[in-house]
Amino acid sequence: MSTDPELTPGGGPIQRGTEAPSDELPVGSRNAPKARRAARDPKRPGERCRAAPGHWIPVVDRAQCEGKAECVDVCPYAVFQIGTLTDEEYRSLSYLGRARARHHQFQTSRTPRAAECRACGLCVVACPEDALKLIRS
Ligand code: SF4
Ligand code: SF4
Repeated sequence: MSTDPELTPGGGPIQRGTEAPSDELPVGSRNAPKARRAARDPKRPGERCRAAPGHWIPVVDRAQCEGKAECVDVCPYAVFQIGTLTDEEYRSLSYLGRARARHHQFQTSRTPRAAECRACGLCVVACPEDALKLIRS
């Protein structure tokens, strides 16, 4: 019987009981490196993916969102989708907000799968416009 240590795909021995916590290795994100960077942000709010689905939901500030999809990239549960501002949303913006909206082709983030949110907080710290917050539903 072989006494060689069990090896990882990278060739190193498996260190039992020393796996990195799952909150540092989000699974399911469209852009894993970006998600890992967000996971290291000490300001990340929420419950590190330990919340039951839908106990928290992300809320998008339409006046701040520029539709650049960082949230889409990092969310491990595909909560976000980029869409177009409605006429009503557009009209509700300030003069400056409308100018920004036109500049960004009226794109904004939607949350069609908000009920799947596990409060990992990655979207909040990844958003470059501070347009997202998590609230308890
Ligand atoms: S919420 Fe933030 S990250 Fe998501 S599309 Fe809007 S600006 Fe980009
Ligand atoms: S906090 Fe919720 S919506 Fe935001 S990235 Fe995590 S699971 Fe997705």
